[in-house]
Amino acid sequence: MFYIHCPYCGEHREEEEFHPKGEAHLIRPADPENCSDEEWGDYLFFRDNPRGIHHEMWVHAVGCRKFFNITRNTVTYEILETYKMGEQPTFTAEHPEGRPSAEADQASLREGVRA
Ligand SMILES: [Zn+2]
Repeated sequence: MFYIHCPYCGEHREEEEFHPKGEAHLIRPADPENCSDEEWGDYLFFRDNPRGIHHEMWVHAVGCRKFFNITRNTVTYEILETYKMGEQPTFTAEHPEGRPSAEADQASLREGVRA
């Protein structure tokens, strides 16, 4: 048994209250009618499976029922952070020790809301 921090409820709850929903930060093609079959197929079916830091979408199914993201190390299973939808992760593959806050804020502004 381990505990996951829900960023909406603001508390650690038992893992059984949550369900994983796959890779986070997928970007839907802006114009599905005019994208190639390969682009649409990539969006629908293909997911990254990295060794190390990975961003995943989870849902607090038995709690607030809200979706949020988790940054998890797939080697150690350590959860590095949880954050609300639309927010950017502090820990990334490029910055495994955490991004400087100013840089993270700038990236968040550039990239806008991604879910
Ligand atoms: Zn919750």
